[in-house]
Amino acid sequence: MLAHRRGRIHAHGILPDQGRDTAKFLAPRQGCWNLIYVATQSQSVKPRVVIIGGGFGGLKAARQLRNADVSVTLIDRKNHHTFQPLLYQVATAGLSPGEIAAPIRWILHSQKNVEVLLGEVTGFDLQRKLVKLADDEIPFDYLIVAAGASHAYFGHDEWEPLAPGLKSIEDATEIRRRILLAFELAERDAARGAPQRELNFVVVGAGPTGVELAGTLAEIARHVLANEFRTIDPRHTRVLLVEGGPRVLASYPESLSHSAEQQLAKLGVEVRTSTLVTGMEAGRVRFGDSWVPAVVTLWAAGVAASPLGKLLSAPTDRAGRVRALADLSIPGHPEVFVIGDLAAMVDAKGTPLPGVAPVAMQQGVAAAKNILRAIQGETAEPFHYHDKGSMATIGRAAAVADFGRLQLSGFPAWMTWLFVHILFLIGFRNRLMVMIQWAWSYITYERGARLITGDSNLPGWHSASVNVRAANTPESAMVSDVREAETQRVAAPGVPL
Ligand SMILES: Cc1cc2nc3c(=O)[nH]c(=O)nc-3n(C[C@H](O)[C@H](O)[C@H](O)COP(=O)(O)OP(=O)(O)OC[C@H]3O[C@@H](n4cnc5c(N)ncnc54)[C@H](O)[C@@H]3O)c2cc1C
Repeated sequence: MLAHRRGRIHAHGILPDQGRDTAKFLAPRQGCWNLIYVATQSQSVKPRVVIIGGGFGGLKAARQLRNADVSVTLIDRKNHHTFQPLLYQVATAGLSPGEIAAPIRWILHSQKNVEVLLGEVTGFDLQRKLVKLADDEIPFDYLIVAAGASHAYFGHDEWEPLAPGLKSIEDATEIRRRILLAFELAERDAARGAPQRELNFVVVGAGPTGVELAGTLAEIARHVLANEFRTIDPRHTRVLLVEGGPRVLASYPESLSHSAEQQLAKLGVEVRTSTLVTGMEAGRVRFGDSWVPAVVTLWAAGVAASPLGKLLSAPTDRAGRVRALADLSIPGHPEVFVIGDLAAMVDAKGTPLPGVAPVAMQQGVAAAKNILRAIQGETAEPFHYHDKGSMATIGRAAAVADFGRLQLSGFPAWMTWLFVHILFLIGFRNRLMVMIQWAWSYITYERGARLITGDSNLPGWHSASVNVRAANTPESAMVSDVREAETQRVAAPGVPL
């Protein structure tokens, strides 16, 4: 059992701060571990701010408190902050994990009023002002919950192992493994004289992440791997981007969606809009009544808030995001704040705020400021989001950017995207490394992180080949749609089925 330095409750009792807090702790009586924490409200007590999550929101909140006379504890289940906007680069072998992530402890090392703890938060006791970990309880005076979101499979959790989503470094390296492995297995089978495989990649969801993944996948197949295989021709890879709504990048103006679709087509991505996934099995995906073979399926369609949201006993929306009050606190608990992807908030026009890094960061600042106001005895201020625009990259020299009156697409949008992402990446070393990698890739088309780690089994590889053969039988033409058949014909010269 860890014995913490400052006023932390754990299974063996409570250890007071070493003279820093005047919090008084009552020792357990008669072997009973019902501990009572009594914090005196004297001026000399440093208010304890606990932040859950070292993502964009949590880190920004911690930094905002850097000069405040508070003691901050930041808890994260990972030891690193991940720059999620560049996760797709790891997933598509452009960058290595260490170039887009940094240890939280290192990021905050010079901020003396912060301690960083590695641990998974499992619940709360808001009445007793405690954050619960599996084997520990941490007291707080103010709490910021910034635990983010994950993927949602719309009630089909069984699809998750078949179609990984992209949220963490682990997800990115698993996706990278599957993508690279598909080409390797196809080459090996073909080299042994087996019928050559149709390499179908299906990306579900055409929001920014789906568009990035599909565009880069097509680029890898057509440029990066084009000349490296002896038996298969990766240029005949099929990348299918499927979207349930009527257009890609639905949160962008229609003209930019249209431009994105054209840029995707130029890269060789097939886009199907207004198409819902109705089934999934290893090696194939069903749209409506048609099954499409898929050696790799990636999920970029739904978002579900961290389960911690529901444990706060505050109202939540359908995605489990907490309906925070205007000042980011939760009803009945002015000392508890929820920010970032975990918070459901609307702007002045009633439009829901997007789940993006600037929202999380601005809310981190706002929550920290409201805590300092509360400590000063002032009233909290409502949060207002300043929308500076949004960007989505599609591939090499292909992107869209929406800055309100100024809308860009193609090369200028891509350059702006590169510049902004380098600027916000944490750590000088990472910025430098990423700049060098990108410049090198731009000139040479190489991707420097093409490592297959983990095992060499691809879910559905064998069933996908059965599916491809089945798709060529007359019966299957009934369920195989026209576009699919067309693509098989196009693929035929290089990739005999
Ligand atoms: C692939 C991808 C691409 C994106 N691209 C962009 C983009 O281009 N531009 C943009 O603005 N936004 C982008 N976003 C969205 C952006 O990353 C999020 O909006 C932002 O990260 C939200 O910040 P947050 O602090 O709320 O949560 P996060 O940054 O997700 O951080 C949450 C933290 O909480 C920790 N945590 C979760 N649960 C627990 C627990 N129980 N106990 C302890 N710790 C816990 C996690 O480990 C994590 O460190 C992208 C997101 C993804 C997934």
